[in-house]
Amino acid sequence: MSKMNLDGFFSYCKQIAEHIQLGERMAALSGQGTPKLTSSVGNLYYDSILPYREDAGPQTREFLARVVDVLLDFVQQVNDRNEKILDFKMPADLQKQLDLELRDEPLPLKTLLEDCKVALKYQVKTGHPHFFNQLSCGLDIISLAGEWLTAAANTNMFTYEIAPVFILMENVVLKKMRDMIGWTTGDSILAPGGSISNLYAFLAARHHKFPQYKEKGLSSIPGQLVMFTSDQCHYSVKSCASVCGLGTDYCVVVKSDERGRMLPAELERLVRLHKDKGNVPFFVNATSGTTVLGAFDPLVEIADICEKYNMWMHVDAAWGGGLLFSKKYRHPRLTGIERADSVTWNPHKLMGTLLQCSTVHFKYEGILLSCNAMDAEYLFMTDKIYDPRYDTGDKVIQCGRHNDIFKLWLQWRGKGTSGFERHMDRLMELSEYMVRRIKEQPDKFRLILEPEMVNVSFWYLPKQQRNQPHDEQKLGKVCAKLKGKMMQAGTIMVGYQPDDRRPNFFRNIISSAAVTEKDVDFLLSEMDRLGQDIIVD
Ligand SMILES: *Cc1c(COP(=O)(O)O)cnc(C)c1O
Repeated sequence: MSKMNLDGFFSYCKQIAEHIQLGERMAALSGQGTPKLTSSVGNLYYDSILPYREDAGPQTREFLARVVDVLLDFVQQVNDRNEKILDFKMPADLQKQLDLELRDEPLPLKTLLEDCKVALKYQVKTGHPHFFNQLSCGLDIISLAGEWLTAAANTNMFTYEIAPVFILMENVVLKKMRDMIGWTTGDSILAPGGSISNLYAFLAARHHKFPQYKEKGLSSIPGQLVMFTSDQCHYSVKSCASVCGLGTDYCVVVKSDERGRMLPAELERLVRLHKDKGNVPFFVNATSGTTVLGAFDPLVEIADICEKYNMWMHVDAAWGGGLLFSKKYRHPRLTGIERADSVTWNPHKLMGTLLQCSTVHFKYEGILLSCNAMDAEYLFMTDKIYDPRYDTGDKVIQCGRHNDIFKLWLQWRGKGTSGFERHMDRLMELSEYMVRRIKEQPDKFRLILEPEMVNVSFWYLPKQQRNQPHDEQKLGKVCAKLKGKMMQAGTIMVGYQPDDRRPNFFRNIISSAAVTEKDVDFLLSEMDRLGQDIIVD
């Protein structure tokens, strides 16, 4: 081959490669439905629509309507059992598929519409009926509508002045939630997640016991503060000890029983131990619905101990709080919650409210303002024409606060309290169904414990492990391999993790209203299809 020919051949190869790449991109895009802008709008730039051009109402509407079409296509796909949950790519490959560059020059509206389609193409469909991976899943349509409205209203929740309707909604919803806990009075706030809600509880507890702390700081505390929580608690509880100056050594871990429930006798023993050392036990976190096993700490016993030693009782019901709706499942799990001083409860988990929606409640009226107020004069003037108690901004350690209430309020209106109760009972029934199906296939699946909630913990046994002595180490290794296969196949997602008693195991979560019995059956059979030939050593 002459040099000329070789160069020509290389350039031909390059052309083909570019063609294939382009083809892949086009295929990727065309798979995403057809919403298209007319060329007269598609070629416009940001400064040819509202608010830059007052007369561009129709063009603005067309652009937004096509974006909404893209969203509606996505909602449809999320609910289509024939669609995959994800199209998994390794980070470097995904980077190549996407044009994420921020340029000096503006891009036209048609490119932005394509960007929206591509962003959703590689997004995991967390509302898909075969997604069992997370505590927050499902795509509640009414709550979604609420979130869209929230984005359009684009307001800050710190003053009544700029969010009058939403502030009143917060008052109504939070009071209703406190009623359900069993309190006739109190204080509440929506926080950015359960972890921050737990932090708010910690701060309020310290303020309640040591009101001087706010001004005088550490010197007002008569000794080493100690907090207590079970070995199954959410890690954010430990983080309070680190963030608030106790040190994680003084977040004392209390043993749990074999089903993951705090042992009250152990709690009392450790409280005494620290008292004898001259430390100051002041805060106990009880978990209602632990993150991994879904266990409920015994609240009545813990409340007795808190009373006896004058400690603040916080209940982290971020996960299990939703069961307060259910007459059938509330007791005995949450019996005694009314004796707590504070409660964290995330509607974005069991209740299916869109992310993010987390609440924290206190038994004491006015405690948040007393604890957190800094009296910023530019926002919280006391000579306003309305009662300044409607301004919520000074109750929190943030300044601005996102509107997380409207989507919950609208969802609650839509479902009614009875609808939430039905939702809870249904999720629990489906979990019971799953436990039954697992027990019916003992050669393929092994249930780890009888769940108290919708967390179902189990191992999968590939052919190699059937009719063999039970080997937890090997079954643990199966988890990572099978999860890898699920991601590659894109057909189901279930989480796995180890805990301090055992190596890796699967933790299935049913908290999506999309799931039915046939999806549970699909899940188990798909795990078996993907996993039966796995070999571990
Ligand atoms: C999820 C969870 C949290 C944390 O909530 P985020 O909203 O993710 O911050 C806290 N506690 C428990 C028990 C949880 O399950």
